Amino acid sequence: MRIALGGITHEANSFSAHVTDMADFRDRHLLRGDEILANWRSTRTEHAGALSVLADVPGCNVVPTFLARALSGAPMYEDVFRALLQDLLSALAAAGPVDGVLLILHGAAMSQETPDATGEVLAQVRALVGPDVPVVGTLDLHANVTERMAAATTALIGYHTAPHVDMYETGQTAARVLVGAIRGEMQPTAALARLPMLLPPENSTHMWGPLADVIGRARELEAAGEIIHGGVYPVQPWLDTPDVASSVLVITNGKPEIAHGYAQELAACFWDRRHAFVTELLPPTEAVRRALARAEGTVILCDSADATTSGSTGDSTAVLAALLDSAPLAARALVNIVDPAVVKAALAAGAGAEVTLEVGGKIAPDLFEPVTFTGTVKTISDGAFVFKGPGMRGVTHHMGPTVVLVHGGIHLVVMSRPVSQWDPELYRSLGLEPRDARIVQVKSPMAFRAAYEGLYDDVIVVRAQGAANPDLVSLPWRQVRRPIYPLDPEVTYG
Ligand SMILES: [Zn+2]
Repeated sequence: MRIALGGITHEANSFSAHVTDMADFRDRHLLRGDEILANWRSTRTEHAGALSVLADVPGCNVVPTFLARALSGAPMYEDVFRALLQDLLSALAAAGPVDGVLLILHGAAMSQETPDATGEVLAQVRALVGPDVPVVGTLDLHANVTERMAAATTALIGYHTAPHVDMYETGQTAARVLVGAIRGEMQPTAALARLPMLLPPENSTHMWGPLADVIGRARELEAAGEIIHGGVYPVQPWLDTPDVASSVLVITNGKPEIAHGYAQELAACFWDRRHAFVTELLPPTEAVRRALARAEGTVILCDSADATTSGSTGDSTAVLAALLDSAPLAARALVNIVDPAVVKAALAAGAGAEVTLEVGGKIAPDLFEPVTFTGTVKTISDGAFVFKGPGMRGVTHHMGPTVVLVHGGIHLVVMSRPVSQWDPELYRSLGLEPRDARIVQVKSPMAFRAAYEGLYDDVIVVRAQGAANPDLVSLPWRQVRRPIYPLDPEVTYG
């Protein structure tokens, strides 16, 4: 049995000022051939999970092809997407005849001229291998699952967790379904229900609240053997494209009516809970005041509007400005910002020097204002660190040249490039312990809660500008098909 393994993973944000280019893939993952197989045993990724299953299948040969993954950002340049797709297709063609294809995807990829980029990848792969070769893909929970994606695949398997911690298990399930389909033991049959709703992610988790009810029911059906997989997808909400929807994708073993029935049940359960996803937002000055009013403990200021994993640019100064307004600040506060020009200036000044610089607000000047920051250059780093939390454990992330500037209690991490903020190693790799701080800024809406578990006493979500603003109604929508919730609160479904 020969199985080709590859994929293109990208999550678009239509409101981001940073167009995703090839450097964004190079910074994260751009793996060819055997590079995909290197170190997989020590990482918690989808492809590692898939490989762990396929390694135990007698006579199974994995042919690694091409695997690209970038941090979220505005839709890819078209030529970048076409180059990635061509690399994947060429590597697949070079692999020769295969019995199955396993693709690692996100499901919310867009390029400037291809709004359903994931559907395009899957349709092209399907055209290359023909109608009879099983093609199974993995998806992020925030996928925009389109009819085209479902039609081109044998099965699509999504994360069941937010914070995302089950990428490894998702890869395992996908590999098992693929092998089952190749052997003829499984006839995956899918039913897709698409819901006209966009939901903010701050209260969207498998651990409590509205999404937990829906995922819990899907898992119940899986455990009972009623279905192979019940994918529940609160879509990445910042996709300003006509064909965007939250969805449910149920896969059964050759039973289309049952798949359809459970898809309808889960979709209704999901739709009925749409109002429960709203999160309380506090203005940054009030959030800082509330955190400083505590006698002790650590408060995370969740600056989710500037979440880099949601596609924002990471150069918001909203929380930093509020902290500076509270200065002199005796309590310790860890904050971070993307600003390569400030890093350069601080490096030129050198460790121990005092600098006064205009910080932030340069990549997305329409959303963020620079602030004047005077501080001492405390730490200089190459910005590389390894995730140690449960999501993406073992994966190295690169902030590029990075400095820590200190002003009173404020410890400002200035990085050259945005990274995922899921993991406290971002701060710890620079000698900053979140547990020792009163305030820790995290630019992630939900996923940080896994690796930060036990490191905080409270989380306050701040109301701020940003490409990942959870106040979805406030954004300048142009393309999205109306009506859709919450832009049109009275929209109906079913
Ligand atoms: Zn996600």
